[in-house]
Amino acid sequence: MGVQSASAVAGRSFPRGEVWLVGAGPGDPDLLTLKAVRALEQADLVLHDALPGRAVLRHVRHGAEIVAVGKRKGAAPVPQAKIHARLVAGARAGLRVLRLKGGDPFVFGRGGEEALACEAAGIRWRVIPGVSAGLAAPAAAGIPLTHRGTASAVTFVTAHDETGALPALDWEALARTGGTIAAFMALSRLDELTLRLLAGGLAPSTPVAVVARATHPGESQLRTTLGACTLDARRAALPTPALVVIGDVVGVLAHRATPVIGAVQHACA
Ligand code: SAH
Repeated sequence: MGVQSASAVAGRSFPRGEVWLVGAGPGDPDLLTLKAVRALEQADLVLHDALPGRAVLRHVRHGAEIVAVGKRKGAAPVPQAKIHARLVAGARAGLRVLRLKGGDPFVFGRGGEEALACEAAGIRWRVIPGVSAGLAAPAAAGIPLTHRGTASAVTFVTAHDETGALPALDWEALARTGGTIAAFMALSRLDELTLRLLAGGLAPSTPVAVVARATHPGESQLRTTLGACTLDARRAALPTPALVVIGDVVGVLAHRATPVIGAVQHACA
């Protein structure tokens, strides 16, 4: 008797009529998993977000249909319900449907909702994890998310709920954990976010890094502090997407993997 590894088998063949939710990683196509590449090579229909770049889509086999469903500047995003309908219709038509999502599909990616839609329609689905920006952006900037003696925990948060507001989290309690905070979609909410963390007791001198377009060609980062980051980020006019890392780990390594935006750099202890 033995336990057969279902994932090892499935990695090689993508059955017709299934929906695979595939993580595209943070941008650099070399950060795709082998499993993601194999799935891209087999898919008949690829529905992708705005985040995965053209270099990632190069793995899609010739003849497959590629549909962009992400938010793009100047164009209304495709409503989530329409994406669900398209996934289900494709699978019912017997296609191998690949839903390509930036980073990891189950980290602030609405992958769970898409899996639920498949389940409700009786469609088999699978998720292929990807390298989340929550891991890749700190790595690109040389920031260990945890570090012995400095941070024993890391919390991934989003600064945007479904209405665009700061989510109803206990931000003050989060401040008191003493761990690292990695905030997604936080650039436009930095003012509120920092006020709540300061109210929770984090010092204004707490180091902060904003890592923009990590692993993309225009990658850049800003080193600042909790007290100064709102103003500094505004002045720096950083590109998006960007991840905000808050905590003493930001200052652990002097490493600078990418150019630091000049005038607004702050010394971190
Ligand atoms: N599922 C994705 C996250 C989607 S939410 C993942 O696991 O990475 C989109 C947010 O992710 C952006 O607003 C930004 O905060 C972050 N993000 C995605 N790609 C990024 C990148 N290359 N560099 C920095 N942040 C990124």
